[in-house]
Formats: sequence, structure tokens, C-alpha cells
Amino acid sequence: MAVEEAKSHCVVLIPSPFTGHITPMLQLAYVLHAKGFSIVINHSELNPPDTSNHPEFTFFPLKDGLSNRDPSFSNLFNIIPEMNTNCRGPFRQYLVEMMEEKTELYGKISCIVYDHLMYFVNEVADHLKLPSILLRPSSCAYMEAVCAFFQLRAENHFPLPESQLLDPVPKVPVLRFKDLPFALTSEIPEHVLKLLEKVADLGSSVAIIWNTMGDLENRALSWLQQYYQVPIFTIGPLHKMASSSLTSLAEEDANCISWLDTQAPNSVLYVSLGSIVVMDENELIETAWGLFNSNRPFLWVVRSSNDLPDGYLEAVGDRGRIVKWAPQKEVLAHPAIGGFWSHCGWNSTLESILEGVPMICRPCFGDQNVNARYLTHVWKVGLELGTDDLTRGVVERAIRKLMVEEEGEELRLRIHDMKQKLQMSFRDGGSSRNSLKSLTEFMSSL
Ligand code: UDP
Repeated sequence: MAVEEAKSHCVVLIPSPFTGHITPMLQLAYVLHAKGFSIVINHSELNPPDTSNHPEFTFFPLKDGLSNRDPSFSNLFNIIPEMNTNCRGPFRQYLVEMMEEKTELYGKISCIVYDHLMYFVNEVADHLKLPSILLRPSSCAYMEAVCAFFQLRAENHFPLPESQLLDPVPKVPVLRFKDLPFALTSEIPEHVLKLLEKVADLGSSVAIIWNTMGDLENRALSWLQQYYQVPIFTIGPLHKMASSSLTSLAEEDANCISWLDTQAPNSVLYVSLGSIVVMDENELIETAWGLFNSNRPFLWVVRSSNDLPDGYLEAVGDRGRIVKWAPQKEVLAHPAIGGFWSHCGWNSTLESILEGVPMICRPCFGDQNVNARYLTHVWKVGLELGTDDLTRGVVERAIRKLMVEEEGEELRLRIHDMKQKLQMSFRDGGSSRNSLKSLTEFMSSL
């Protein structure tokens, strides 16, 4: 496709408002903009992007009345359906106006790309006879696990006795039942099941864009290709494919970088559980003392630092830094970082792999369990910390294993090797670059 031709095309993007979702959508916006598409972004009023950081794009807020809601985990299963109900009308109205009045400004709408949590889009696009493409910000492995879960459910496998939780899942034997998206020993609430069904469903979308690499997830990708029967474009990792990194929603504490500059290579453990997971009080205290007792330098993201033990910061002194939000990609790329204790969100997983930083895996919910299992048992670049209650002794031992002992060094060498191979994907002629070329041709043909 000639770039001049693409300039007459506009792509409308609908991100969901959670950091781990809006970030890859904004990265995709940069990728498509660099290919000549004009970009319109319709976003929720909850957690909106800072539009002044992205003057290249046109932003339009969807009046969903959710700006004051707390997007923490306990609220997600209520907020997501509400957001889908509330956004439908405003989005439809915006598209109608755009098609009637604004074609000259932005070009013809080529297609609508939507985050898989914003499933209302599919219905609106159908109604207006516009093609829609789904963006999956999760791993292929996770969606394969979700599909396996629904198949097993249809075959009446659940609820499952406790004693079977560690058994391999038929069809995806690398996973144990406990790695599937839900606790399977009790009935799953109907509204939660419905939501998962909607997220897994492709509706009438004509293709899927996946923030992953064919070179990383070949097996799960082939399976999903059979399952969905539409073109799948694997153009990840989007943070490396995009020309801009200005996509953080929260204010980053850049001071930690100058502190990292004073630390020895591979000596610092970076600890972050992403944007949604919160540690309970006991876990926070055990983690704090485990980090302290390990005697290793650490950089720890604690989004709310109120509950740290009294006197803790003084005791740690210059051996550690605690920040509310770190410039994570820059941190992981810093030579002083020798390990990453992570909740294994998909963005964090990709960012860590692509910087060659071995991980301590402490997943909490949803896709994190699947990603952690792949990190520890398939790619073998992470240590399993499990999901049981933490004690300071367990924390200290895991840190020593990763940062000091031979096992950690083996993981470091392996992930370094993985990084070297995978970075070919987003270079000229690599699998993600080729997939992006196919995607832009596909979009221009719609
Ligand atoms: N992140 C960051 N600073 C922090 C913690 C996280 O910039 O202090 C970014 C991280 O780089 C990643 C995103 O927030 O891009 C978190 O996404 P992920 O999918 O890992 O987890 P989620 O927040 O969705 O649980």
C-alpha cells in the first residue's frame, strides 16, 4: 500500500480505560499513524489519556458517567458491563456525525479497532456497516486457556474437586487446572461467566490484532487461528514497534533512574505488581521485611505507601527506593536491574523478556496465572513464587535464588538468549514487521 493512499484512511480506536489495555492501544495508534493512517480515539471518561501528550491524534471522550469510579480489581466485573452499556449510544452518535460531516477532515473510516473489553463496539459497527477489528492486549496462551475452560465447562468438568487442581488441563497440558482464569472448585457467578464469554467472542469482527510475536507463541497462535477463522496479525511487542513511548497514564518518578545509575550491574531487584493488583496488609509487611532481609538493593513500586511498617524507610536507607510509579520500560532496560518481581501482567511480561530480565512470578488473577506458568515452565526464565500466603523467609529465599545463586544465573542467560532471538521479530524482515505490512494492506482494502 502506498503511504499517500493510506493518508486518505482513518482508523477509529476504542481503548478500554485500564493501564495495561490503553497503553498497547496508544502504541498501536503510533504504529498505524506512522503508516499514514489518521487516528481518532474514542475513550471512556474513566482514567482518560492525557491528550496533550498525543497531538497527532484526535480524541473524543464517550460520556459514560464513570469518571469517578474506582477501577480496582474488586470493581472490574461491575464497571466493565456498565461501561459497555453507557458508551454504546454516545459512540454510535459520534460515528454517525463523523461519517456525515467529518470525512474531509479525517478521511474515510477504514475500520474500527477495539479493545476486547469494549465489546459494545462490535454491535455499533455492525449497525453502521463498518468493519471492526479486535485488539487483544493479552497473550495467545491466555485466550487458548479461556477457550479450553469453556470447552471443559460444556463437558461438565466443573466444579472440580480440590484434589485435581494440580492436574494437567486436557488439550493444554502445560497448564494445571489452577492456572485457568477462575477458581474452579466452586460455581462461578453468572455475571462473571457472561463477561468472559463476551471477551472471548469475536462477534462479526473481520480480524484480530494481537500484541504478541509469532516467534514467541507459535503453538497457541496456530490453535487460535483454527478456532477464530479470521486473519490474526501478531505485531508485538507494541512497545518496541511504536515510535513513541509517551504513553504512561500516571506520573513517573524519574529520580529512581539516577539512583539506579549508582548501583552495580545486575544487582537491583525491581518489584512491581502493575496498575491494578494490590497487596493485602500482611503480604505488604512480609514483602517489606523479606526485601530488607535479602540484603540486595531493590526498587519497589508501592502505589499507596501508607501501610509500610513504621521505621521501614529509615531502616532501608539508601539500599532501596520506593516509588509510587516508575518509568518501568526505562527501569527494565537499565544495566543495574538484575531481576523483576512481577505479577506477570502481559505488558510487564513482554517488557521484561525484551530487556532480558529474569523474573520472580507472583500472579494474582486472570491472565497472570497463565503467563506465570509459561514464564516458569515453558520459557523457563522465571521463578515460581506461587499464590499461597507469603512469609518474609519465602521472599528472602526467592530473592537470593534469583539474584545470587546459580539458578538465577541460568535464568538470566536463558532470557538473554530469548531476547536476542525475539528482537529479530520487530526488525526489518522480522515476523512482526511482516505481519504489520499485511495488516496495513488488509486495512486499506476494507
Ligand atoms: N508500569 C509503569 N510503571 C509502574 C508500574 C507499571 O510504567 O510503576 C506499566 C508497565 O510498564 C506496563 C503497565 O504499566 O506497561 C502494566 O501493564 P501489565 O499488563 O503488566 O499489568 P496490569 O497493570 O494490566 O495489571
